[in-house]
Amino acid sequence: MKVLDIQRMSTEDGPGLRTTVFLKGCPLACTWCHNPESIEPRSHVEWKGVLCIGCGICGTVCPQHGITFDENGVHTADFCNACGTCTRECPTQALELKGVNYTVDDLYKVVIKDRAFWGKDGGVTVSGGEATLQWQDVLALFQKCKEDGVHTALDTCGFNQREVFEALLPYTDIFLYDLKLFDDEEHIKYTNQSNKLIFENFEWLAGTDARIWVRTPIIPGATDTDENIKGLAGIVRDRVEKWELCAFNNLCQDKYDRLGKEWDFKGTGLMHKERMEELTQIAHENGSSVAVWSGATALTD
Ligand code: SF4
Ligand code: SF4
Repeated sequence: MKVLDIQRMSTEDGPGLRTTVFLKGCPLACTWCHNPESIEPRSHVEWKGVLCIGCGICGTVCPQHGITFDENGVHTADFCNACGTCTRECPTQALELKGVNYTVDDLYKVVIKDRAFWGKDGGVTVSGGEATLQWQDVLALFQKCKEDGVHTALDTCGFNQREVFEALLPYTDIFLYDLKLFDDEEHIKYTNQSNKLIFENFEWLAGTDARIWVRTPIIPGATDTDENIKGLAGIVRDRVEKWELCAFNNLCQDKYDRLGKEWDFKGTGLMHKERMEELTQIAHENGSSVAVWSGATALTD
């Protein structure tokens, strides 16, 4: 499995305290993405300028001669094969390999160490990127979890073949299912993919006995309209345990800076509490009493 990151003691990725495994690769490309380093399926090296002392060792050890330096810092070439030599040799850990290969058994050995912290509600969450891109490995991991009585959560954008979700259903204790935009043209504009398959899979999943939390990122100027919430409310209704409207945050700006990418939402402020309450009310009035909102909001106008 190609793992981007493993986060411990997470309180935002399902019930209770959880260990969340973030996988590489996503079929969507949401313009607001908070994990831009997860979109590319292949591994890459990330440079943290604040830790770099400019010693140049990485440039001399790279077997591919794929490291260059300029006034903006250290850069790895497109032909970097993610061998990890530079990350191991860097004396200050300014270079980090993003996308480490694990076998299912090895990954299980890592996550199960956290068992003592999970309590009765917590467990393992697999997120992304899009977790179902590596669904066979996720299935094997969840099967191991269930053999040991470990609670499993799958964080998904819903964009995969039905058979994938059918295979995962018996081993998934809760689905964290993202629904972003009701209007398909808007969905394509902001995520690069149609919402048709996502909605079809949701319809099917909602008709099973699966435990589901729907999540909708509330993004200023994109998903935060009355029409969008009204439309999604008609789909979600009260067929799930919870519908969480997650207020936009801008904490990922430094990730875009490290990747050398422009972020469409650079400088965008937080949502206001009143607007989050209004959108939640709209969801309630349009057939979804399970809607709640979460996240930090702006302190002032
Ligand atoms: S990961 Fe390997 S190939 Fe890529 S830049 Fe570092 S040393 Fe070079
Ligand atoms: S080896 Fe590490 S500290 Fe030295 S130049 Fe490369 S990134 Fe910077």
